[in-house]
Amino acid sequence: MNLILLGFPGSGKGTQAKAISGRLGLVHISTGDIFREEISRKSPLGLEVSGYISSGKLVPDLVVLKLVRSRIATETKGLLFDGFPRTVEQAQGLDDFFATREQRVDAVLFLHVEENEVVKRLAARRSCAKCGKIYNTITAPPARENVCDVCQGGLILRNDDMPEVIKQRLMVYKDLTEPLLAYYRGNGIFHEIKGDSSPDAITENALAVLKTWSK
Ligand code: AMP
Repeated sequence: MNLILLGFPGSGKGTQAKAISGRLGLVHISTGDIFREEISRKSPLGLEVSGYISSGKLVPDLVVLKLVRSRIATETKGLLFDGFPRTVEQAQGLDDFFATREQRVDAVLFLHVEENEVVKRLAARRSCAKCGKIYNTITAPPARENVCDVCQGGLILRNDDMPEVIKQRLMVYKDLTEPLLAYYRGNGIFHEIKGDSSPDAITENALAVLKTWSK
């Protein structure tokens, strides 16, 4: 199964992607995580994309598609995409790539969270600089302030979770990513789930939806 998670930045895609890929044995592909890793390694790709990311803009489609194709070219397991595709061009590029391998996108899950809620969540989001675990200072704080429960790493506010960058990212989402809902809605693989309950409840709901589909 190849699965795509869609939703506003801050809708919980990253948390759900980790949980669902673990439960279904899928390979989790987060383009945002890959870019952040490249930036911290100061690789040529990291240097190329850091300006886009810190200002809340999208990395150009050609760069993203090249990265994703090379990342998945040798994967034999099912894939779970988180943060990709983000434009209709990327979705078409993925469909074309899968077509060359007689594969396809099997399911698209849209995590529905209201905009005012994601603004609150993004401002309260902290992630571990070492292992990437995500916290929320209000709803899911770590046991010790600013220290990761899992690896004791320090927690950071992502540059692109600063208030003015959040605004830009939400605008970009509405302009360029929201049209994807119509792109996938048309072909019978789209499913919307509510993203405002507890993370565990959302995971169970998502798994139930996917089970119904795979029957
Ligand atoms: P994320 O962690 O998915 O919110 O991604 C963080 C940032 O990385 C985004 O705001 C974009 O600047 C960039 N990015 C991640 N995935 C993509 C993508 N599929 N297309 C373009 N830019 C991306």
